[in-house]
Amino acid sequence: MIGISVVRKIKAVFQHCEQATFLIVKDEEHALDRKERLQMKIHLLFCNACRRFRQQSHLINSWIKQQQHEPLHTGLTAEEKEKLNRIIEENS
Ligand SMILES: [Zn+2]
Repeated sequence: MIGISVVRKIKAVFQHCEQATFLIVKDEEHALDRKERLQMKIHLLFCNACRRFRQQSHLINSWIKQQQHEPLHTGLTAEEKEKLNRIIEENS
């Protein structure tokens, strides 16, 4: 049976993780003040889940920034258009 103190500790850890993830996202926007940065770094020393979240958040943001500079190819190439036209003509 889990005691009330254990439940409180678990709840406190989750609250800290919620705050830490908020700070991690805010840090990606370079908007942390000194106190927030210190809180985040201390939390990251002890929390593997938030360290992993930070790495993944950084990867996603890097990918998004890269896509803004090099947008995905969304159109058909001339070869693909020709192939598509052939298929349409053959089936019409
Ligand atoms: Zn955490």
